[in-house]
Amino acid sequence: MKKQLDLKAILDSDIEGILEKIGLLELVNQGKIKCEFCERKITLDNLYCIYVESNEFKFCCDRISCYEKLTKIQSVSE
Ligand SMILES: [Zn+2]
Repeated sequence: MKKQLDLKAILDSDIEGILEKIGLLELVNQGKIKCEFCERKITLDNLYCIYVESNEFKFCCDRISCYEKLTKIQSVSE
């Protein structure tokens, strides 16, 4: 069965607007969002990508190791 995974790489200039739209900008600014893979605190500077899994927003930081894990999840779903 196909895993529902909606992967969206988001451009730098869009990140703030999108976070605001989904109501998470405040949480990011408060340092309450963590990278899904390394649990590092997500900021507007290190946020690489937002994706949706099981109807939840998940965050990936800009570490290559985290991005690689993210692409592995994505390839599993295809
Ligand atoms: Zn990370």
